[in-house]
Amino acid sequence: TSAAYDDNNIFAKILRDEIPSHRVYEDDKTVVFMDVMPQAPGHVLVLPKAPSRNIFDADPASLSHTITVVQKVANAVKEAFDADGVFIAQFNEPAAGQTVFHLHFHVIPRHEGVALKP
Ligand code: 5GP
Repeated sequence: TSAAYDDNNIFAKILRDEIPSHRVYEDDKTVVFMDVMPQAPGHVLVLPKAPSRNIFDADPASLSHTITVVQKVANAVKEAFDADGVFIAQFNEPAAGQTVFHLHFHVIPRHEGVALKP
């Protein structure tokens, strides 16, 4: 079982514009912004606006829309960063590496022979 959604998590504050972010895409249900500690150039985060802590409590319709945006963003960063591939990741609960508790997908352009930054 996971904890409840915390309205004061950092991405909730970004969604409310209480903390600045570099937004690159937005629609009625989704926001995309640059990761502040990119693991490679073009590392972006895709978030549903609907409050969910992670995959476990996400609304399926919201999740479906979000993954469609992830696909668009993967194509966009591949093109924009002339990437050879795109890494997509998503963490649920601290045991799996989640540190910010609003559901998000990492989308990271990758180049042959170039390692991710730690
Ligand atoms: P995760 O929960 O997926 O393990 O990691 C959260 C991600 O959010 C990390 O890649 C981290 O660099 C990013 N992050 C944390 N705080 C901020 C912030 O205030 N602004 C932005 N743009 N990204 C953040």
